[in-house]
Amino acid sequence: MATNRYQESARLLGRAKQVLASGVSSEFRKYNHPHAIFYTHGQGSRIYDVDGNEYLDFTLSQGPLIVGHSHPAVLAAIQEYSTQGQLFAGQHLKEIELAEKLHQLIPSAELMRFCLDGSEAVQTAFRVARAKTGKPKFLRFEGHYHGWLDNVAWGISAPSIDALGSREHPQAYPWSGGLSAYSREEFMILPWNDIELVRRTVAEHCGELAAIITEPVMCNNGCIVPQPGFLEGLRELCDTYGIALIFDEVITGFRLGLGGAQQYFGVTPDLSIFAKAIASGYPISAIVGKREWMEEIETARVIHAGTMNASNATVAAALATIDVLEQDPDTYARMFRLGRKLMQGLREAADKTGQSLLVQGMGPMFNTSFTPLQQIRDYRDTLSNDKAKLNAFIAGLHDRGIRVIGRGLWYISAIHTDEEIEQAVAVATEVLKSL
Ligand code: PLP
Repeated sequence: MATNRYQESARLLGRAKQVLASGVSSEFRKYNHPHAIFYTHGQGSRIYDVDGNEYLDFTLSQGPLIVGHSHPAVLAAIQEYSTQGQLFAGQHLKEIELAEKLHQLIPSAELMRFCLDGSEAVQTAFRVARAKTGKPKFLRFEGHYHGWLDNVAWGISAPSIDALGSREHPQAYPWSGGLSAYSREEFMILPWNDIELVRRTVAEHCGELAAIITEPVMCNNGCIVPQPGFLEGLRELCDTYGIALIFDEVITGFRLGLGGAQQYFGVTPDLSIFAKAIASGYPISAIVGKREWMEEIETARVIHAGTMNASNATVAAALATIDVLEQDPDTYARMFRLGRKLMQGLREAADKTGQSLLVQGMGPMFNTSFTPLQQIRDYRDTLSNDKAKLNAFIAGLHDRGIRVIGRGLWYISAIHTDEEIEQAVAVATEVLKSL
């Protein structure tokens, strides 16, 4: 319910709606509580809205702000490098430095190209895979998000389990109107985390499959960790049948460690996508991969372009963000520890208040849902979530100054503290009691 607490945001939203479609610039920004909110500034782990409300932020701008809002080292690097120009339609020194850094940190990053965001880097990976293999389709998994473009805007959400069809032959439910019917021809889809099912399907369709794309941790729905052997099984299948294994590390990149999920799980994909946390909220992404795949671009058989790619400010932001993350060797250990402490605190709060809150994930990112299940293993399981209750939980947190992504996803940054984790647990306990 819109209360006085959000009245200035409500007023600005009314004004914005006159000129911006539904008042926002991205679909997901509509789903704040109690409506899209307008912010004035962010500092460290806190963000402030136009009504003067302060929030302890676990949204981190949907993931990118891994070193928090307005980190002084990031802002200083951008300021300094930007004074030399914005964009040259040509190369610049720091671009090589960033590529060398990623090459050193990410196991599969033999060659790379920079793009603007995750969505377009994903499409570049598909193009490379199709060019090298000469095959037309990719295999993807239910509930995995790979951007908003047509060929991946299916099978992300569904109104019910029935709408998904059988596990062996799922119906990919369209996420948007206006999707090209041809885009449905470009992919096959399966439930995640079931290697036997993938094995059978790939054996039957290997002649058509150029790529298998997966989030290495299914962050976007339920924050599901891969079953032991699942990622290794995908690697083996791709090797057997000459298929590109693509890891979409848009969330896991720089969040599970500087080498991404591929380093964490010890499975090296052929191609992978890094975006979000790479540059503290500045628009840069990277498609990185093994030389034998990326040379499709090197030899210009595959075209990849973009006027705005690797602009001075974004490259400087990425180098500075990585520098901050590297400075303290305990950064990731601390993010894991704090995340797990928060997860445990929420579980105990749920026990105390008798709520069926499932807290699942890895620490640096995790998910909360209200379900009778003990574990969520794939997208179909996520449909057991009591959405009304989750909405009430997220709204209750928001009204008390804790900001979490509406679908129950929490991100931890390198600058959250023990005290803030304890504050979040105390507030969550209060909210859970009230539900
Ligand atoms: N892949 C994953 C796993 C994502 O979470 C997202 C965005 O949330 C994307 C791709 C698309 O990235 P972008 O929003 O930068 O286009």
